[in-house]
Amino acid sequence: MTLPSGPTTGLAPFACDPAHSRGRRFFEPEAPTRTAFQRDRDRVVHSTAFRRLVYKTQVFLNHEGDLFRTRLTHSLEVAQLGRSIARSLRLNEDLVEAVALAHDLGHTPFGHAGQDALHNCLKALSIAESRSGSEAWGFEHNLQSLRVVDELEERYPAFNGLNLSFETREGILKHCSRANAQRLEAQEPGGVAQRFLQGGSPSLEAQLCNLADEIAYNAHDIDDGVRSGLLTMDQLAEVPLFEHYRLQALAAHPQLVGRRLLFESIRLMLSEQVYDVIDTTRTLISAAGVQSLADVRSGSGLVAFSPDMRERSQVLKTFLLRNLYRHPQVVETTDRARRVVSDLFELYLNAPHELPEAHGRSQHHARAVADYIAGMTDRFAIREHQRLCGTVLFP
Ligand code: MG
Repeated sequence: MTLPSGPTTGLAPFACDPAHSRGRRFFEPEAPTRTAFQRDRDRVVHSTAFRRLVYKTQVFLNHEGDLFRTRLTHSLEVAQLGRSIARSLRLNEDLVEAVALAHDLGHTPFGHAGQDALHNCLKALSIAESRSGSEAWGFEHNLQSLRVVDELEERYPAFNGLNLSFETREGILKHCSRANAQRLEAQEPGGVAQRFLQGGSPSLEAQLCNLADEIAYNAHDIDDGVRSGLLTMDQLAEVPLFEHYRLQALAAHPQLVGRRLLFESIRLMLSEQVYDVIDTTRTLISAAGVQSLADVRSGSGLVAFSPDMRERSQVLKTFLLRNLYRHPQVVETTDRARRVVSDLFELYLNAPHELPEAHGRSQHHARAVADYIAGMTDRFAIREHQRLCGTVLFP
């Protein structure tokens, strides 16, 4: 078998080339048949954390309906959109796929509600007991995704984590607070956290995943919102971005109603957003005179919507926040979810013997508890809560 050698043909000069990867944290010989980024993607797909995504909430709890998005199907949609855009821009599709599939690995059960609860628990503990240990980091899901692939997966004989390439890890850490960046930088000087301290940008592939994430959830949350009955097509008429494509769909197919009209409107909207990103990004790259990956890293962000699409996408995001994420029915569920997470944190903190052995004997007990809870699926968290607290919060 021969190693795929030299730059992958057809890649733009500013794309990430696996042959020039900044490498893995622990040395491993190259794979005979796959590039570094293809191998990263495969490692993510085979990880335990990846399989858990199927039972983790996006907006709706997993048991509320079989057709709602989960973190897994969301991640697949981000990968699809990301690859599609990457191909047009001659960026590295494999890297985009690896980052997209891994970007939500650190999400707690119950979506953002779970993350907020865990963050508050850790922060409260660090303040109450003036601890400066790992509690003080709080909980950030991007950082946790990196922690999953760097530390928490236990699959290899010689190291913790999945030992992914720098470029994949860089894409996974899309946001990071300054304090956490300083901590990471101390462990890995000049590593994935450096740009949060010194400025600069990640690869175009990483930037692309970030925007593909937004395009994906805006579109699928409309679909899930209508499916759930919490949003109506009439309400959506007040969102210019959606209404524009609904009218376009109706102009082409005047008889279209119901779900097919919804799907066709979303499909048109997705396509337009993809074309908009491709055109805008091409223009920005050429206006900035970007010739290499080094130019990308030293400059500001280049993967973007046009100002008009940015504005229209923002209006849609605000609409979804007001009408879906803050819908009384969603809020009621997320309040209960928050309680499950806070109760579990309190419980394991005071009863380490309730943790599985691998988590129970850590010097950094609060962090081990947070890692354990963050790894839970929605339904496992609900079952554990029921077992340990005796209260049924999700009948
Ligand atoms: Mg996401």
